[in-house]
Amino acid sequence: MILLERKMPNKLSFANALVRRLNNKHEHFDYYVKLANRLQAGYKGELFVDRLLVELTKPEKHFFIFNYECINEFGFPHQIDTLLLSPEFLLIIEIKNISGRVDYEEDKHQLTRTLENTIESFTNPFAQIRRHGQYFFRLLKRLKIPLPIEYAIVSSNPSTIIGKIPKHPPFFHASGLQFYLNKLEAKYKPVVTNEQLVELANYLNSNLKRSEAKNHIELCHIKKGVLCEICNYEFQMHYKAGTWCCPKCRVRNKKAILQALDDYRLLVNNYITNQEFREFFGIDSMHVASKLLARLGLTSEGEKRGRRYLIPEDIVNKGPF
Ligand SMILES: [Zn+2]
Repeated sequence: MILLERKMPNKLSFANALVRRLNNKHEHFDYYVKLANRLQAGYKGELFVDRLLVELTKPEKHFFIFNYECINEFGFPHQIDTLLLSPEFLLIIEIKNISGRVDYEEDKHQLTRTLENTIESFTNPFAQIRRHGQYFFRLLKRLKIPLPIEYAIVSSNPSTIIGKIPKHPPFFHASGLQFYLNKLEAKYKPVVTNEQLVELANYLNSNLKRSEAKNHIELCHIKKGVLCEICNYEFQMHYKAGTWCCPKCRVRNKKAILQALDDYRLLVNNYITNQEFREFFGIDSMHVASKLLARLGLTSEGEKRGRRYLIPEDIVNKGPF
């Protein structure tokens, strides 16, 4: 059973919004295109491993928490790709999507990637996952839940060549998950009741703490308005007769404003005032802007000129149209 679904990471949404909104001549445009592609590949890999895991396990006894984030007792954050809770063990999974060959030098605590004769150093996933494990060790002790902790670093990219790496924590391809899960099943007997597992799941859920996206960009660096998706976000659409029209391809799309508002939320602010709305969307009339804002059904706070509207996170999928 999935207790917490995986959502698109904030960093990826931010990079995608920048790729839509930055002028392609902007000095950092290519950097953000590459970043968005890399993060997209990582996210796709995580979803692929999620699907495999769900397929390989039993929904009545295995609980999944995807992309768990919390703050430990010392005030430092943990971001864990996947947690698998079962009556026999707690499995912490890190998912890696690395092209090329990876090697680990144990004495240097260094993970390197070799790709096309270039060697780069990567974040050490072994140290990362052990640190998560130590947190759960302390937590389970405190909650008096005697679950053993297991680890897996899973490569979601079939082309990765896993070179010299330590035996533990295990680092293997996603295709090895079935074998690994069978091995754990054979190794352990149930040690906690379903109630204890639910108690742990509830505890984790109540301590979920998403890291806030801190990236914001000056309005002068980005393209304003509702941009036409069909024209690759190059042209600004006009508001005419209750809908948005592209001057280039002539497409009409009422919903196009939802993506634009989401971009505003991701890049500028999750609150918008009537004046900011008019400036960003190129609407002269305060009355038209008020009508549009009302139709969007955004919750507002404050009165008159100080009124501001909250742009919800899921506006693109759950818009009012
Ligand atoms: Zn167009």
